Amino acid sequence: MATVDNSLRSTGPAHGGRIALAAALAAVVIIVLLRTAGASIGVSAVSGLAAAGAAVLALWPRSGAASESPGAAEIVERPDPPYALVLESLSDPVLLASDQGEENGEPRLVFANAAARELLRLQRSDGLLAGHLRNPRVLEAVDEALHGRIESEAVFEEGGARERVWRAIARPLPSDGPERLALLCMRDETDARRNERMRADFLANASHELRTPLASLTGFIETLRGHAKDDLAAQGRFLAIMTQQAQRMSRLIDDLLSLSRIELNEHIAPGGELDLGLAVTDVLDALGPIAEERHVRIETRTPPAGAAVIVGDRDQIIQVIQNLVDNGIKYAGEGGKVTIEVQSDLGIEEAIRARSQAGARLSLLSPDRGRPLRYAALTVADSGPGIAREFLPRLSERFYRVEGQKGAYAGTGLGLAIVKHIVNRHRGGLMVESAEGEGAAFTAYFPRPVEG
Ligand code: ADP
Repeated sequence: MATVDNSLRSTGPAHGGRIALAAALAAVVIIVLLRTAGASIGVSAVSGLAAAGAAVLALWPRSGAASESPGAAEIVERPDPPYALVLESLSDPVLLASDQGEENGEPRLVFANAAARELLRLQRSDGLLAGHLRNPRVLEAVDEALHGRIESEAVFEEGGARERVWRAIARPLPSDGPERLALLCMRDETDARRNERMRADFLANASHELRTPLASLTGFIETLRGHAKDDLAAQGRFLAIMTQQAQRMSRLIDDLLSLSRIELNEHIAPGGELDLGLAVTDVLDALGPIAEERHVRIETRTPPAGAAVIVGDRDQIIQVIQNLVDNGIKYAGEGGKVTIEVQSDLGIEEAIRARSQAGARLSLLSPDRGRPLRYAALTVADSGPGIAREFLPRLSERFYRVEGQKGAYAGTGLGLAIVKHIVNRHRGGLMVESAEGEGAAFTAYFPRPVEG
C-alpha cells in the first residue's frame, strides 16, 4: 500500500480536501464494485454513494489522533481509508484524476491502483496525467468527465507483444469543493473482441457451408424444370444427387445444433458415471452395418465390464465414440481396418504415451493437471491415408478439413470440434497420432470417479 498512501499524501489536498478525496475514493470503490457485479448506476446514484462514503470515512477511527494530542511522543499516521485497500486489489486498472494542483488546469493523477500502475508502468501515482497516459482519446475522455461533467469512453490498444484491447471509461465524480475529480476505469476487452470475431467467422463459415448444397439443389431444380423435363434417365440421376445434398444440409444442421448445445453447458461438469467399454459395444451395434457395407474390418479390445467406468454424460460419450469410429471407417476406406481399444486405469502420462515411434503426435486438448487423477482412454486407429504433420494443429477447428480430402470424404468438418468440446466438458484430453500413408489414431481420455 505504500504507493497509494504516498500518492495521496504527497499531492493530496490537506485535511478537508483529503476527506473529500477519501469520499470520492469510497464512491469509486462502490461504483467499481457495482460495475464488476454487472450493475449499471446513474450519476445521481453516484452522488448518493459518495455522500455515504464520506459519512463512513468521517466515522472511521483516526489513529492519527495521537499526533494531535499535546505532548504526543511520536507521530502516528492515519491509516489508509479501508476503501483504498479494496481499490488497490481490484484486478481492473482504476485511476483518479483531479483538475487541481497543476498550472494551466491540466488533469493531474491523484491515484492509480496496482493494476493501473502495472498497465501504465507507473513508478509513481502523481504528476500530470498526460505524463503517464499518452493516448489522446483517453485524455480527451478524462477532460470531458472533468470539465464537461459527462461520462465518456475511449478504446485503445496496448502496444508491444501483448496486443490487448482496453476500454477506458471516464466518469465525473461528485465533489463539494472547488476540486473536480474524474474516475478512469479500464476494462480489458481483448477476449470479448476475439469472441466477437470468432462468432462472425463461424457464421460466415456456416452460411458458406450451407450455401454450397443449396446452390446445387436450386441448379438441379431448374434443370429438371427446363431441359431435363422429359429425360427420365437424367431425372433419376439428378434426384439421387439432390437427395445427397439435402442429406448433407441436414447433417450440417444437426452438427451445428449439437455443437451449440454442447457449448451451452460446457462449463458444467457432468455428474453421471458410465462404462466406456460398454458404450463402445453400443456404438458398434449401430455402426457395424455401415462398416460391413464399406468392407471395413473392425477390431475391438475392451476390458471386462465395470473396469473402465468414467464420470460422464452417456449421450455425449456415445457421440465422441461415434464421431471417432465414423471417421475411422470413413478414412480407412474400402477394405481398410479400424482398431478400437479401451484402457481402463491410466495415469495422465500413460494416457498420452505414444503408441508408435513413427509419425507425429499432438495433444489437441489437455486436462488441468491440478489433481492427480486416473483416466480411462479410448483409442480409435485406422489404416487410412493418415494426416501430414503440418495439418495436425488445425484438427478440431470448426469446418477444418485436411486439404485434398474434401471431395473424397465430404464430411461436415464439425465432428472433431464436437469431440473436443465434449472431452473438454468432461475435463479429459484428446491426442492425435499420425503418419502420412500409415493411418491416424485418436485417443480421448476421461477421468475415472475419485474414490473415497
Ligand atoms: P469431417 O466430417 O470432415 O470428417 P471432422 O471434424 O471429423 O470432420 O474431421 C476434420 C478433418 O480432419 C476431416 O475433414 C479430415 O480431413 C481430417 N480427419 C479426421 N479424422 C481423420 C482420419 N481418421 N484420417 C484422416 N483424416 C482425418
